[in-house]
Amino acid sequence: MPDAAGKVFVITGPSGVGKGTLISGLLDRSDGLELSVSATTRDPREGEVAGRDYHFLSSAEFGERVAADEFLEHASYSGHQYGTLRSEVDARLRAGVSVVLEIELQGARQIRDSMPEAVQIFIAPPDPASLRSRLVGRGTDSPEAIEQRLNTAETELAAQGEFPNVIVNDDVQTAREELIALVQTELPLD
Ligand code: ADP
Ligand code: 5GP
Repeated sequence: MPDAAGKVFVITGPSGVGKGTLISGLLDRSDGLELSVSATTRDPREGEVAGRDYHFLSSAEFGERVAADEFLEHASYSGHQYGTLRSEVDARLRAGVSVVLEIELQGARQIRDSMPEAVQIFIAPPDPASLRSRLVGRGTDSPEAIEQRLNTAETELAAQGEFPNVIVNDDVQTAREELIALVQTELPLD
């Protein structure tokens, strides 16, 4: 059993900013760090795998699990529910494994209140227009879903100042190295 408990890293920012891309690079390069698989009521996208990308739940099951206090945080985003299950986080922390939560703003605020020791990182775009081009380029969301996400992005970008760590994802390799360097200085040594 390692001496140090694991740490929680919250990575947030608007849809399309590149959170998933940067986190995948981070996980490839960090030992002792794992991604919490969130629960959601949205439908799987093409290529997404249940249990790997998300735990896909019905609205009824999500509600039951909220009532049973199974979530560390949860929020409604773009017409669907998203949340972090305690079962994804607690045992890992006790075993000395650190955990990345890739979550939206309301969830990040809940974690700030319940786990003030968590490291909070906001990923920002070089300019707001790049969010639209990245979401369109990703090709996973309908035009309506993209508009809804861009509307929410305005509120999210306005909250950037709440975050002690902001990484601008302009050049992806530069941003990835910044994220890795930041996380590695915060990772507990065993
Ligand atoms: P998020 O997880 O924040 O919604 P993604 O990681 O899915 O965002 O990235 C959205 C799209 O933008 C993807 O197609 C990804 O390849 C692309 N992307 C990510 N980072 C950059 C970057 N720095 N420059 C250009 N495109 C990027
Ligand atoms: P997507 O539908 O693009 O996978 O995710 C939409 C938004 O929900 C993204 O901003 C993503 O970070 C956020 N999200 C994913 N999982 C969770 C979660 O467990 N809790 C919260 N609050 N947001 C989440």
